[in-house]
Amino acid sequence: MWDFETEPGYQRDLDWVDAFVRDEVEPLDLVLGDPYDKTDERARRLVRPLQDQVRERGLWACHLRPELGGQGYGQVRLALLNELLGRSRWAPSVFGCQAPDSGNAEILARYGTEEQKARYLQPLLDGEISSCYSMTEPHAGADPTLFTTRAVREGDEWVIDGEKWFSSNARHAAFLLVMVVTNPEAGPHRSMSMFIVPAGAPGLVNVRDAGIGTESPEHSSHGYLRFTGVRVPAENLLGEPGEAFAIAQTRLGGGRIHHGMRTIAQMRRAFDLMTERAVSRTTRHGRLADMQSTQDKIAESWIDIEQFRLLLLRTAWLIDRHQDYRAVRKDIAAVKVAMPRVYHDVVQRAMHLHGALGISNEMPFSAMMVDAQVMATADGPTEVHRQTLARQVLRDVAPGEPLFGSGHLPTRTEAARRHVAARLEHEVAAL
Ligand SMILES: Cc1cc2nc3c(=O)[nH]c(=O)nc-3n(C[C@H](O)[C@H](O)[C@H](O)COP(=O)(O)OP(=O)(O)OC[C@H]3O[C@@H](n4cnc5c(N)ncnc54)[C@H](O)[C@@H]3O)c2cc1C
Repeated sequence: MWDFETEPGYQRDLDWVDAFVRDEVEPLDLVLGDPYDKTDERARRLVRPLQDQVRERGLWACHLRPELGGQGYGQVRLALLNELLGRSRWAPSVFGCQAPDSGNAEILARYGTEEQKARYLQPLLDGEISSCYSMTEPHAGADPTLFTTRAVREGDEWVIDGEKWFSSNARHAAFLLVMVVTNPEAGPHRSMSMFIVPAGAPGLVNVRDAGIGTESPEHSSHGYLRFTGVRVPAENLLGEPGEAFAIAQTRLGGGRIHHGMRTIAQMRRAFDLMTERAVSRTTRHGRLADMQSTQDKIAESWIDIEQFRLLLLRTAWLIDRHQDYRAVRKDIAAVKVAMPRVYHDVVQRAMHLHGALGISNEMPFSAMMVDAQVMATADGPTEVHRQTLARQVLRDVAPGEPLFGSGHLPTRTEAARRHVAARLEHEVAAL
């Protein structure tokens, strides 16, 4: 059965979230600093009571299964929630589902030992600490098989040497999940292991934090990390040796679709600002809204957003059905490719319709344009996801007749004539 409606009970929750985020959370974006900085007392005082309301409402950490304190809602309901939370920088932290902690929690829950869960997962779920996912290296990002950061076993410890780059929120993280080569002789997908490295481990240095676009150094939060003889105990291995690639895929599949859900909120925000501008601004020839070029922008943007949202919701529905990100790789790749394109196009139109104001730093569009580019790069560049999608599609395609293929009209007509003639002969014989 096809159904595009939300159950009334959950819709009531969504209506509450919509108003709560608008009235209580969005103002925090304009007055508070980094949501990952758990030492900010002012932020804690403001955010704790809001988090308590979310818990009371049963909407805390909705991405997690019930045994981990989440609701087990599944991806479709999560999508409907995230497309509201994505409006605000602080909202995911108020609802306990902020990246990268959400993905890190997912893999700690799935692969962690009881001790690792008690020490790292529980405080993460309680919102007491932040975490970092450290995989990309300065010389290699899109292709993890080129990573060189190494760990060597010495007695009961592993010793890590190398560099990581763009490790988001490393500066506030209590621990890092680090993907490291442990067996270079093994095949490319079995050579790396995942380690939990506590912040402040001797030998771990944050060389500097890179920022996005024109972010100032104090707001830059993507760590360039150097590991020099960093020792971690053997029990800090997450999962089995050589399992990091599989663990990373588990994490990134969810991460990509969750980014898509939140990005819908930003697309809609740009769209709402565009339509508001269209009916508010007048020229000598009338309102912008009455000009065909403006109507084109609005119609194209509406279609782009609706198409993207349907693709995303269908993908979320498939994940719920299969309960395995690998079975939905093609669809997740499609979401990942479409997301930055739609986001960019809608924001570009909205920005342009606002004239100089749109380009200025008094509106959010410049940051959104950079954000669209982030979505085209983070968690793997668009080209790589296009390849994934195309390969998955082509895997199921059988070769046709080599010279003219199965669409060749003369060949098909000839076959159709033979088919019809055979039927006519059959009917004549029956008379
Ligand atoms: C805001 C932000 C946050 C991030 N946070 C994290 C984080 O927390 N942890 C982490 O580990 N990493 C993080 N990253 C890094 C991110 O995952 C990488 O940037 C991404 O995987 C691409 O790697 P790269 O930057 O080295 O680009 P490269 O691998 O150098 O690719 C550059 C370009 O080359 C082209 N290209 C590359 N490979 C192919 C191919 N196979 N086919 C065709 N073209 C290709 C594409 O145009 C691509 O954009 C973050 C990145 C951003 C922008």
